[in-house]
Amino acid sequence: IIELGQPEHSVVTTCAYCGVGCSFKAEMQGSTVVRMVPYKGGHANEGHSCVKGRFAWGYATHRDRIRKPMIRARITDPWREVSWEEAIGHAAAEFRRIQADYGRDAVGGITSSRCTNEETYLVQKLVRAAFGNNNVDTCARVCHSPTGYGLKATLGTSAGTQDFRSVEHADVVLVIGANPTDGHPVFASRLKKRLRQGARLIVADPRRIDLVQAPHVRAEHHLQLRPGTNVALINALAHVVVTEGLVNESYVRERCELEDFANWARFIAQERNSPEAVEELTGVPAAEMRAAARLYAMGGRAAIYYGLGVTEHSQGSTMVMGMANLAMATGNIGREGTGVNPLRGQNNVQGSCDMGSFPHELPGYRHVADDATRHSFEALWGVTLRGAPGLRIPNMLDEAVGGHFKGLYIQGEDIAQSDPDTQHVTAGLAAMECVVVQDIFLNETAKYAHVLLPGSSFLEKDGTFTNAERRISRVRKVMPPLGGMADWEVTIALSRALGYEMNYSHPSEIMDEIAQLTPSFAGVSYAKLEEAGSLQWPCNEAAPLGTPMMHVDRFVRGKGKFMLTEFVPTEERTGPRFPLILTTGRILSQYNVGAQTRRTANSRWHEEDVLEIHPFDAETRGIAEGDLVSVESRSGDIALRATITERVQPGVVYTTFHHAKTGANVITTDHSDWATNCPEYKVTAVQVRRTNRP
Ligand code: SF4
Repeated sequence: IIELGQPEHSVVTTCAYCGVGCSFKAEMQGSTVVRMVPYKGGHANEGHSCVKGRFAWGYATHRDRIRKPMIRARITDPWREVSWEEAIGHAAAEFRRIQADYGRDAVGGITSSRCTNEETYLVQKLVRAAFGNNNVDTCARVCHSPTGYGLKATLGTSAGTQDFRSVEHADVVLVIGANPTDGHPVFASRLKKRLRQGARLIVADPRRIDLVQAPHVRAEHHLQLRPGTNVALINALAHVVVTEGLVNESYVRERCELEDFANWARFIAQERNSPEAVEELTGVPAAEMRAAARLYAMGGRAAIYYGLGVTEHSQGSTMVMGMANLAMATGNIGREGTGVNPLRGQNNVQGSCDMGSFPHELPGYRHVADDATRHSFEALWGVTLRGAPGLRIPNMLDEAVGGHFKGLYIQGEDIAQSDPDTQHVTAGLAAMECVVVQDIFLNETAKYAHVLLPGSSFLEKDGTFTNAERRISRVRKVMPPLGGMADWEVTIALSRALGYEMNYSHPSEIMDEIAQLTPSFAGVSYAKLEEAGSLQWPCNEAAPLGTPMMHVDRFVRGKGKFMLTEFVPTEERTGPRFPLILTTGRILSQYNVGAQTRRTANSRWHEEDVLEIHPFDAETRGIAEGDLVSVESRSGDIALRATITERVQPGVVYTTFHHAKTGANVITTDHSDWATNCPEYKVTAVQVRRTNRP
């Protein structure tokens, strides 16, 4: 029993795990946190929390934290502790040498969805103003970049349409490729409450997730599709809507581009898009698809919530557009209880995208080729900006392997563990001449670094996070940075050493600059956040208190645009050598690659990643519960313990990716979304065999 004692004071801040963005009171004794208590005044969580935010914060003071800057000449050399001044000076000199030797485009940066809006903004500013190129990218590349692309193309903005509270008005909820119980637990509680009140549920997922069978909330329809057939499924649902006369014609006439709608309706009405035509492909009975489509279209207010099971596919962007098409055709956008809503993974992945972390977009999702936008940044930053997009993460790695990309500044991102095709990632990193990793732990990527800069945990941060409902909340410093410098201060120092001066004395001044340059943030300031508690963008003159629900009277782009969503099968094929499909996901107590949660007591609930395999597939391979099995794909092989379960269907296996030693991404493919390069984590052809090899 640990005696925690009575707190002396508390600081309200925001959870640094998932995109729900729960508010907590960090209760303190002196400068020590003794408890994290869910904050009743938090707009995203209203006093609720899950086991990650509540208990898994001890990593912040874990003995593994990096507390001193370190450098080394080669990645095979031992680390040498140095002063901040020497580390930053060395990094800047190396970046400048590389640019002199190989050209301006030979370096780039990666922002972090674990960091604040202000920190992210500064990294992209450093890349654009100090490096002088657009080679900046973010972890959204590997998660929700298709959301940005698909929702912008159809609705006009790269974000979810509703606030979380909206689900309390839904009559029908369609959950696609998301497992909120594990991934977004506080939102799942809100959803389950509404389901217990009588809302009806459709789940489209290859696994029997908790929502399919949970007591009192079970799904009325479980569309248990084969991984990789999302677009065929959404087209089949839309086919039913169009051919059975379920289109909301007055809505479409008033709100959408009519010519695009007519083209789309003709396309979707074709017999090859019917439920019967795709029954065998998807594995979902046609009658089930027809019933689900009718329920979605005629059951009242219908809301779509989706996750990485939608985006992490070679047709991720197409699927996002397919859901927007379905919602527009049935009039289910712009009212309470409706909408198309991504359940975003990381605490600030929405914010990192908003802040211009993509190589083609400046803050506020404005293309770098747009002269007026670029000139507004140039005037304030005092530099000339490139009008052509820079490199995405996979392109940086390709160029590095090819010998043309030599230097990378990575703030709070572990691409060696979290990105697909690990061998390719590490080959790219190993080929670079200066990799600067700014992180709280010596992660897998740091093994390829030449400069290591101590990062700050959320308890050491001052700034803002933006959650999945576009809600900007304050993150308040609970303790000083263990390494002596906050992440935003490090970026400023690096920029200064590179010869580009940045002058801010507090993160609030960075937010003031963001507001000055970004129309959707024009009304955001720390003073207003203190007063309001949180603000949902767009927050500007037209919406001074923010915007809980978007697209109410008109879409952000004006008229909604229906996009053609032809199903194109993934290039990843099963066959005699690799007959099963591996798909991946998360578990409640752990978070992503586990760098944080594995350093907390939460690990007792999940000590290793396991492979879920259906009894039929296990029996035909002589696999018993708990056996060690090898999982082999075209990219590599790993060993996992097997658990035999009917949560997965025959032909499909499933694992999580929380532990580096089992490294699911060693075997994932290099296929990616056609529009955004988001990796196809959710479909890997594999063979599974019993093995003795650990
Ligand atoms: Fe943190 Fe997400 Fe859990 Fe809320 S639901 S406590 S934001 S991990």
